[in-house]
Amino acid sequence: MFGRELIEEAPANSTSCRFCRSMLHYTFVDLGMSPLCENYLSADQLNQMEPFYPLHVYVCEQCFLVQLEEHVSPEKIFTEYAYFSSYIGALLQNAKSYTDMIVERFNLDRKSQVVEIASNDGYLLQYFVQKGIPAIGIEPAANIAEVAIKKGIPTIAKFFGKKLAQEMASDSKKADLLLGNNVLSQVPNLNDFIAGMKILLKQEGVITMEFPHLVRLIERNEFDTIYHEHYSYFSLISVEKIFAAHGLTIFDVEEIPIHGGSLRIYAGHSDDASKSVVPRVVELRQREEVAGITKLEYYFAFDEQVKETKRKLLELLIKTKRDGKTIVGYGAPGKATTLLNYCGIRKDFIDYTVDRNPYKHGKFTAGTHIPIFHPDKIRETKPDFVLILPWNLKDEIMTQLDYVKEWGCKFIVPIPEAKIYP
Ligand SMILES: [Zn+2]
Repeated sequence: MFGRELIEEAPANSTSCRFCRSMLHYTFVDLGMSPLCENYLSADQLNQMEPFYPLHVYVCEQCFLVQLEEHVSPEKIFTEYAYFSSYIGALLQNAKSYTDMIVERFNLDRKSQVVEIASNDGYLLQYFVQKGIPAIGIEPAANIAEVAIKKGIPTIAKFFGKKLAQEMASDSKKADLLLGNNVLSQVPNLNDFIAGMKILLKQEGVITMEFPHLVRLIERNEFDTIYHEHYSYFSLISVEKIFAAHGLTIFDVEEIPIHGGSLRIYAGHSDDASKSVVPRVVELRQREEVAGITKLEYYFAFDEQVKETKRKLLELLIKTKRDGKTIVGYGAPGKATTLLNYCGIRKDFIDYTVDRNPYKHGKFTAGTHIPIFHPDKIRETKPDFVLILPWNLKDEIMTQLDYVKEWGCKFIVPIPEAKIYP
């Protein structure tokens, strides 16, 4: 249905689907205007104008890819970035168990080549390096790539696409394992990116990618995982179509809990006879069809569901403030930018927030100007409530903050719907 001719010859423009080039007519959700999610302001920026861009998400009526228009180029977003994966315990754990599993399943050893796209600060590749397996990272944010290189992980500070793949392939750096976690959503030129993976993969090599599962995003109201950095939102069915158009077949899929519910897909060359599609691919595809992924009506209910989530959170915050209680935030993740801006939550509700990442200390959240401090601030000020902004890590955070119970402080978790935890 989506032949390669169609992909390469059709002109790209800002209102057409980034995969199949059909015109985009249907809204999935409109979150209004929002600043870039990984922008943190210093004190001297607070009185200046700030750029806001539309967070208007569409669904393609032809291929059902859910997507944002590209208002901001990746060069602008990712060249200097504040997201250091090593500060997140749950990511490290996932990375370690992934490495053990994948090395065993595909017999990777000192003769193998591992390539990770969007390798961040090397938080994952360090586990391959520890096992003596050759690994190369690709990370466009120069400040983050530098951290990885200092740790001894070879890292190329460039954007991935066909061009870089060709350079690496001719330099005999083709991959036995080519992986990319939470990068597929962040690629505006999806066809160039996947064509690049096809080029870089050895004949019997394996691609694995993790990305948030659209079905979970809808089910669990995770609208704050929508931000300008995430250009696309995938179901198994939509990602299979895109891979197939580039000669890649998804032969296995796992549903994993990270980032509020993600898929980990396994793909190989479509003409690689050494791999066969396992039943759980067929099973998940059927479940998505039953849920309604291939019908437009399925997507239309989300906009109202999001508005109701906002009303419930504001009701709870307003009641808490009327009762004379103090609320502070925990975390300043990208998703907080969407949540706080869409709901209009500023210092009128939250005195401050805290984050473990020292890069953010002394800075302010974009658009809403909430100050960000070291986590110790909570013990100093003894608030009545802590609003957990990275709700996907709520269990880890509530355990870390167990001491707040000493003064009767409770937690508020905003998603899937506002709820108080004792
Ligand atoms: Zn499309």
